[in-house]
Amino acid sequence: MNLRIPGPTPCPPDVLAAVGRQMMNHRGPEVAELTRRVVGGLRPFFRTESDIILLTASGTAGLEAAIVNTLSPGDPVLAVTTGVFGDRFAEIAEGYGADVTRLSFEWGTAVDPAEVSSALAEKRFRAVLLTHNETSTGVTSPLGEICESIHARSGPLLLVDAISSLGALPLATDALGLDVVVTGSQKAWGVPPGMAMLSVSERAWHAASTARIPRFYLDLERYRAPVREGQFPWTPSLPVLYGLEVALERMRLEGEEAIYARHARVGAHTRAAVSALGLELFADPRFASNTVTAVRVPEGIDGKALTRTLRERHATVVGGGQGKLTGKIFRLGHLGFVTVDDVDQALFAVSRALRERK
Ligand SMILES: *Cc1c(COP(=O)(O)O)cnc(C)c1O
Repeated sequence: MNLRIPGPTPCPPDVLAAVGRQMMNHRGPEVAELTRRVVGGLRPFFRTESDIILLTASGTAGLEAAIVNTLSPGDPVLAVTTGVFGDRFAEIAEGYGADVTRLSFEWGTAVDPAEVSSALAEKRFRAVLLTHNETSTGVTSPLGEICESIHARSGPLLLVDAISSLGALPLATDALGLDVVVTGSQKAWGVPPGMAMLSVSERAWHAASTARIPRFYLDLERYRAPVREGQFPWTPSLPVLYGLEVALERMRLEGEEAIYARHARVGAHTRAAVSALGLELFADPRFASNTVTAVRVPEGIDGKALTRTLRERHATVVGGGQGKLTGKIFRLGHLGFVTVDDVDQALFAVSRALRERK
């Protein structure tokens, strides 16, 4: 089966072998060493000197942790959104009683830094919620420019969903002054789902000391000292840790820059190949993501039937459209241990499925 959704991504065979290993004492020295290696392997991709916390949970819990650890009910928050995941981040903040102002951009377009800047000029915000790579539309927003416009104004906390970008697209956490950056094991890391990994800046730790949203499992302070010793406050997902160690060693051998270059190459190739099939790309080409490509379902074709045909007759699984894009687009994931060949095979299947449906 060619699994071409934007996460979970296919795991390499050595990762799969590792996740099947025997359990260990999670408070013992082997797991402490393993955790230190995993955190050390993640650090170059986060580009941060700050603490990196591992939560046994999916990526959404990482976003929730960013909110509950830094904010108090009633805090003014600017949620910048370009799709389903930006909206979800906003909903989490609303759910915990933050005073959320949404700055929404048309789906398929990127965040306009100038509009963020004007929103910040109008009101003082405690935090800004940003999505680096909007997986539902296949758009990567220009975080560098956005952050420049934010620092020029005041100093809100910058909480960033980098779940489908970190490990595949460059992101300079410290250089951009990002306070919490969240990713998830099943995306670019090529590991099964089950862990959210997040960096926490000094400013975020300081905010946590006064943040009044109730929390327990996601209380990052409980993880801070243990993780420095390679420990956890409670039982972590050992299989995901085993897998991460192997995946990160592969990534170290390939090299950070080579990984970013490969994703750029595969992304460009995907877009060219989609266009060559006569299909229309959904995202603004200037901000098209190098980890996921959204393709418009051609006029007269039922998007759901198309993904079903791909799955049942061509052993190819692509992502459907989410929210208001259901049935209107399909999405090809190309993040993690992906090659041009993987995409070509998927697109060959798409071309055959489209012919069969006519
Ligand atoms: C996948 C994804 C999420 C959700 O992650 P889960 O692990 O499913 O909780 C959130 N944001 C983005 C941008 C994603 O790609």
